[in-house]
Amino acid sequence: MHRKILITVFAFLFITACSKETAEVDNYDPARDYFTFANTGAFVTEHLALNLDVDFEAEELRGFAILSMRRLDPDATEIVLDTRDLAIASAAVLTTAGSEPAEYRFGEPHKTLGTPLFVTLPPGTNEQFDLVLEYKTSPESTALQWLPPELTAGGKHPMVFSQSQAVHARSWVPLQDTPALRITYEATVRTPESLLAVMSANNDPLTPRTGEYHFDMPQPIPSYLLAIAVGNFYFAPLGKETGIYTEPELLDASVYEFADTQAMLELAEEKFGPYDWGRYDLLVLPPSFPFGGMENPRLSFITPSLLAGDRSLVSVIAHELAHSWSGNLVTNATWRDGWLNEGMTSYLESRLMEVIYNVKRVDEERVLMYRELLLDLETVPETMQALAPRLDDTTSEDFQGGIHYSKGQLFLEFLENAFGRETFDAFLESYFQEFAFGTITTERFLDYLEVNLLSQEGAPVSREQVEQWTYNPGLPDNAIIPESENLNIAADLAKSWSDGETALVEISVADWSPQATIHFINSLSAELSHEKLAELDAGWNLSDTQNAEIGRAWFIQVATRRHLGAYEPLEAHLNRYGRGRLIAPVYRALAENGEDLELAREMFERARDAYHPITVGWIASGLEEQD
Ligand SMILES: [Zn+2]
Repeated sequence: MHRKILITVFAFLFITACSKETAEVDNYDPARDYFTFANTGAFVTEHLALNLDVDFEAEELRGFAILSMRRLDPDATEIVLDTRDLAIASAAVLTTAGSEPAEYRFGEPHKTLGTPLFVTLPPGTNEQFDLVLEYKTSPESTALQWLPPELTAGGKHPMVFSQSQAVHARSWVPLQDTPALRITYEATVRTPESLLAVMSANNDPLTPRTGEYHFDMPQPIPSYLLAIAVGNFYFAPLGKETGIYTEPELLDASVYEFADTQAMLELAEEKFGPYDWGRYDLLVLPPSFPFGGMENPRLSFITPSLLAGDRSLVSVIAHELAHSWSGNLVTNATWRDGWLNEGMTSYLESRLMEVIYNVKRVDEERVLMYRELLLDLETVPETMQALAPRLDDTTSEDFQGGIHYSKGQLFLEFLENAFGRETFDAFLESYFQEFAFGTITTERFLDYLEVNLLSQEGAPVSREQVEQWTYNPGLPDNAIIPESENLNIAADLAKSWSDGETALVEISVADWSPQATIHFINSLSAELSHEKLAELDAGWNLSDTQNAEIGRAWFIQVATRRHLGAYEPLEAHLNRYGRGRLIAPVYRALAENGEDLELAREMFERARDAYHPITVGWIASGLEEQD
C-alpha cells in the first residue's frame, strides 16, 4: 500500500503491547498472526474459485466460493474461516463421492477481526476436499465501495471496487484471511452488460464487454491481494507489458501522467530480477480510493489524486511496482512483519526514482519522508515503534502508522551504505530469489542477513546493531539523516519570509519542485498573522492548487492555525479527495486546534457518503476519540 502517514494517531486505539523484556517468559509467539481466526495449523486453502453476480441495486456480491483445502491435522474436523458482514446460505463438502452438506455457525464478532465462521466437516471427508460456500456480501462490506454514478468521473455508470489489505478480504470472500498462506484463484464474474470487470489476475486488454468475465491467477498470492473492480473502464496501452484501465474521462490524463511506467518496469527487472507476474497494468479509480495505491498483482489500484499534470507524484507508481518483488513475491508472514513489505518497498521505490529521475528529487522526497517519521515517533506509543513490534489480540489494524514504511526505508539505506550498493543489491536479488512466492518473518530475514552479509569477515554491521532497528523504539544513532539542498533553501526562505525579511515576490516558486513548496509550507514560523497567510495563499494560489500533496500540506496549516479565511476551500479539499493521507490529517488538525472539533464532525457528516468504508472508519474513530 502507499500510505506513509500517519493515520494512526488518529486511530491507534487499543494498543496494549507489552515490553520486549517479557518476551522470554511467556508464550509470546512472534510468528503468530493476531489478525486472523483461521486455524491454519489444521487446514490450509490451496485454491479458490469464485462465481459471483455483481448486483449494484442491492449493493452486494452474491454467489459461491469454493475453497480447495487440505487437512494437515488428521484429527481436525472443524474449519475456522474469517468473515465480516457476510451472509452464508449453505455449506457443503465436495469429494469424489459427491456433495455433502456441512454444518456451520458464526462465532462472536470482533471489532478488528470480523466474525469467525465454524464449519464442521461431514464424517469421512478426505484429506483433500473442496468446501463450497454459498454466500453474499453486505452493503456494509468494509472492503467494497459501491459508487453511484454521480461519484464517478463519467457520472453515468455505477462502480464498485475492493480494498482487501490488511484484513478486509474477509468482508467479500469467506476465507483464511492471513498473509501466511498463498492461494491461486479463478473467478467468473457477472456484471451489467455495459460494464467491465477487472481483477488482480489475467486481465486481457482485448476482452469483449459481455457482462460475463473469467479470470485466472496462476501465481499463488496471499488473500490481501485479492481484488476486484467493476465499472465503465477502458484500456490504453503504455508499453509492451503495461497499460491503464480507467474511465474514458481520465484516460488521456492518466496516460500522460504515468507514461514512465514501462521504463520503471524494465529498470526494476534489471535491478531486482525477473518480473514474475506477466502484465503490469494500472487501474485509476475515483477520488474515494482510500490509499495512494494498492499493489494488487498485475493490476495496481491507483488514486486519481496523483494526476497533478506534471508527473510530480509518480513515486507512488514506483512504489506499487516495487511491491511486485517486496510484498507480492516475498510476503510478510504476519502484519507485525509489515516493514518487510513496506519498508523494503519504500527503499526500492527510492532506488527506482533515482534512476528514472535523479538523486536530487529522491533526496527531496526522503527529507519529507523523514519529517513524517519524526511526527510519527512523537505520536505512536513506544511499544509500537520497533520495526517488528510485539502485538497481541487487542492490537488495532493500523498499529504503527507510517513507521514500517519510513523507518524500514532508513534501515535498508543504513545497510546499503554500510555494505556498499553493489554488495547490497546482490544480496537483495538473492533474497528475492530465495524467498520467491513465500512468506517471511523478521527473524528469518535477520538470519538470512546474518548468513549472507553480517557474518562476512570484517562486516561493518553487527547483528546487535541490526536488532536495534527491528526491536527497539525510536531511531538508532547510526541512521543516515536525509538532506536536500533545495529543501534547505525552501526552509530558510520560509523563515525569512515569516520574519518579514524576504518579500514573497522575491521567491521564485515557479522554478521549485512541488516538494520544495511543501517543505516551505511545513517550515512556516509558528506565529504567523492571518494577513501573512492570506498573502501567501493569494500569491501562490494554495487553496486552489491542483497538486494534492501541496493542498494537504496547506490545509493542515490552515486548520492548525485556524486560518478561517481558507475554511471554505479546506472543506472543498475534504470533499474532493477520499484518500486517507490527504484528508485524515486535516480532520485531525481541525479536531485538535481547540475550537473546531464540532466543525470537523459537521464537515465529516457532509462528506462521508463519498468516502470508502475504510476511510470512514479511520476518521470516525479519530473524531469520536476527541471527546
Ligand atoms: Zn506499499
